[in-house]
Amino acid sequence: MHVTILTLFPNVFPGSLGVSLIGKALEEGVFTLDIVDLKKFSIKGGRVDGPPCGGGCGMLLSPEVLEAALASLPSPISSGERKFIYPSPRGELLSQKIAYNLSKLQDIVILCGRYEGIDARILEKYSFVEMSVGDYVLMGGEVAAMALIEASVRLIPGVVGAPDSLREDSFVVSSAPLLEYPQYTHPVQWNEYSVPPVLLSGHHEAIHQWRLAEARTITRTQRPDLWNQYVARALGE
Ligand code: SAM
Repeated sequence: MHVTILTLFPNVFPGSLGVSLIGKALEEGVFTLDIVDLKKFSIKGGRVDGPPCGGGCGMLLSPEVLEAALASLPSPISSGERKFIYPSPRGELLSQKIAYNLSKLQDIVILCGRYEGIDARILEKYSFVEMSVGDYVLMGGEVAAMALIEASVRLIPGVVGAPDSLREDSFVVSSAPLLEYPQYTHPVQWNEYSVPPVLLSGHHEAIHQWRLAEARTITRTQRPDLWNQYVARALGE
C-alpha cells in the first residue's frame, strides 16, 4: 500500500505510524508513506489559505495550493485506482469494515485539512471521499489520517503476527460484531484482584463460552446500538 499525505505539518509524521508493529511494517515496505508539505506550494507571499467567500470565521486552504500539491504527485504506482480521502467530520464514520476495505487498496492519497477546512471545489475535482473519525471536531486532519492508516495497515496480512488476534478484536468485520471480552495476564493474583479461574482451567470450550458471555454483557451495557444489531441478527431479522 502506498500512502501519500498532504499536510501543512509534515513533522507530525510518521508519529504513531513509526513505532511497534506498524513501524516495522513501514520499515519493511509493507506500506510506504510519502509526506507532502503543502507550504511548499504556497502562493502570493507564502499564503496557503483565504477567507471564506460569503463571510464567516476562519480560513480555508486554497484550491490553487492544493491543486499544485496534487499535480506534483507521481503517477499511480499501479494500474489500480488511486483513492483520494479527505478526513472530515462530515464524512462517513470510520469503521472496521471501512478499514478492511482500505487495507486492500494500493494507492491512497489523504489530504489533511486545517483551520476552517478546504475549498470545496478540490473535493469535487478529485472525487475525494470524506471520512470522519468521530462526531467531534479536531484541529486538523493529521490525527484522523493516522487513525485511518493504522486501522487499515494492521489488517494487511502479516502486519500483526498472530491472525487470531485480529479475529478476536472488537468490531471484527461482521454484520453484527461484539466488543472484546476482558483480558488478563500474569500475575494471577494482583493486589486483591485475581484472574477469573475459568481462564486458568485449560478447558477451551469453557473459556470460549465465558469470553462470549463477557463480550455479550460488555456490548449490551457499553454499546446498545451494536447489541441491538447483534440480537436482530441472532433472531434472523
Ligand atoms: N469547519 C469544519 C467543520 O465544521 O466541519 C471543521 C474544520 S477542522 C477545525 C479542521 C480539519 O480537521 C478539517 O478540515 C478536517 O480535515 C479535520 N477534522 C476535524 N475533525 C475531524 C473528524 N472528526 N474526522 C476527520 N477529520 C477531522
